Amino acid sequence: MTAEPMAPGDDAPAGTPGTGEDICPDCRGTGRLNGQPCPNCDGTGKIIEGVGGG
Ligand SMILES: [Zn+2]
Repeated sequence: MTAEPMAPGDDAPAGTPGTGEDICPDCRGTGRLNGQPCPNCDGTGKIIEGVGGG
């Protein structure tokens, strides 16, 4: 089993049932914040979030 690295803004590892990719709200999908890699999404511009209420 491969351990996927999780960004601080991720709710769960990629591929977790009930979750999906979403645009990082901090950097709005750019992956950068204040000229540096966004700390919330680790510079990917995307985060993993739970789908549906919760
Ligand atoms: Zn971000």
